[in-house]
Amino acid sequence: MKLLTATSVTQGYRDNDFDWCVEGELVHIGVVCARDRDDPDGGCGCGRSFAGLNSHRATTTAMVREVPGFTEDDYVEAIRSSLEQQGYDPSFAEHEAAGLRTLVREWPVGAIVERRLNEIVVRQVVQP
Ligand SMILES: [Zn+2]
Repeated sequence: MKLLTATSVTQGYRDNDFDWCVEGELVHIGVVCARDRDDPDGGCGCGRSFAGLNSHRATTTAMVREVPGFTEDDYVEAIRSSLEQQGYDPSFAEHEAAGLRTLVREWPVGAIVERRLNEIVVRQVVQP
């Protein structure tokens, strides 16, 4: 299935890009703190970043990748355990997984996306 993953590809396109995630790890769209709530280019950075499910770090660039053998149940479980590890309510996992699947549905594998608060937009499409 197609999944949203961390990538360093296109880093530097924006002056305030950063990538502290592990290349290829699954990411989700984390909560934005009060400081960056109205500004995707704010001082914290959470309004323009995706959160790594394993590293619990952040990146401003994510890639749509085809991950063979991964099921919808695996995806829910990956998000559930990540939320739990970080002290969030894991009962949101199913809802989050559904939202992320819907998000990537229309994008090709190799699409690099960026986040502007609640909007996720394609920055570029590369050969995966
Ligand atoms: Zn923040």
